[in-house]
Formats: sequence, C-alpha cells, structure tokens
Amino acid sequence: MQERTYDSESGQTKPARSADLRALDLYDFAKSSRQAAGELRVSQMPRMLAEVPADAPDRDTMFTWQGKGSTQPELQDDGTDALQPYLRLAVHGSVWLTCQHCLKPYSQHLDIDATYRIVATEEEVDEYPLDNDEVEVIVGSRQFDFVDLIEEELLLSLPFVPKHNACPEVHESLLSDTDEDGLGEADKGDAPDKAGKPNPFAVLEKLKSGQDGKKH
Ligand SMILES: [Zn+2]
Repeated sequence: MQERTYDSESGQTKPARSADLRALDLYDFAKSSRQAAGELRVSQMPRMLAEVPADAPDRDTMFTWQGKGSTQPELQDDGTDALQPYLRLAVHGSVWLTCQHCLKPYSQHLDIDATYRIVATEEEVDEYPLDNDEVEVIVGSRQFDFVDLIEEELLLSLPFVPKHNACPEVHESLLSDTDEDGLGEADKGDAPDKAGKPNPFAVLEKLKSGQDGKKH
C-alpha cells in the first residue's frame, strides 16, 4: 500500500506528509487557519477499493482534496462569544463502479464539498443543534485521521444504485423491445433517472394539484 502524497508544486511525492494526514492536530489546523491539499489514491482507502470491480480498467484512480481550517465566533451559554473550530473539505475525482443495469464497470465522478464544526466529544455531536443543514459535526482530535475522513465522505457519496449516466444496455433494450409495460427495462423501480424520463410521482402531483384547483 502506498503511503505517499504527491505535491503538485514541487512535483515530488512526500512519504512523510501522508503520515501527518493520519495524525493531524485538527484543533491547531482550525485555530491557525491552515490549508492543505493533496492527492489520494483509491489503493490508500481499502473500503473504497472494495467497491471497485476486479475488471475495472483502472482500480487505483486518484482523488484530489483540499482542506481549510477556520474559526467562527459562536454565542456561548454565558452570553459571550468564543471562537470555535471549523474545517472545510473538498474532494474531487472518479472511481470505477459496477453499473447495476448492465453489470459492466463504469467511471463515477464524485464531488464533495463539506463544512464541519469540530467538537471535542461524541456527546457534543449529539447535543449540537441541527438547525444548519450546511454544517456537519465531527469529533476533533490532536491526532485526527484526515485520510479516514476523506474515505468516509467518499463512501457516503457513492450512488445508492450505481449505473451509467446513459447505460448502453438500456438503449439497446429500448430499441429492440416492444416495451410491454411502457417503461421498458430502464427503471426497475429505481429512483427516477435525473437525465431520463419525467418522474412519475411528479406527474401524479401535477394531476393532483390540477384536480384541487386552488391551494389550501
Ligand atoms: Zn450500464
């Protein structure tokens, strides 16, 4: 397993830096508004690698990431403001997955842009008010595994049903089938394809609102 990050400025791989990323002082990173960027290969993330089919053209694709620490004032229980630690993480890249329609490998692009409020304990995560959809809450550490956070976010961003944007198998079946049910084999009860047919539920909603005439 590679334990290296590629530094795009110097053009060198730096073995030491990857180790730092496995034990980062996240509080200091936020307090001193540090920034870091690098590249991570799928082979450095075993749980991601497990998602990649054996017949993929490239099992070890690369993701680029950027991290940025910051602090923001927050009102305390005693009425005073205190600076609290934040982390912003962006990850971009592609991974090969198995299309659930044709069972062939395809390249899935993944984009992550997340902001985290860093807290000290799991209890604080539970107590944190959930009035802000744009901020996630994570437990910080003086030896924070940054690579593990990236892998976790990538796993969470994987599509529920991996499939080609336009699966060639679906097009073939649509052309050759007489289409008995009017839906073809394109969507076997999956969530509606963004780029494909109109969502049948949206059509239903339209019909319903048309019947009601006016809104309540
Ligand atoms: Zn496919």
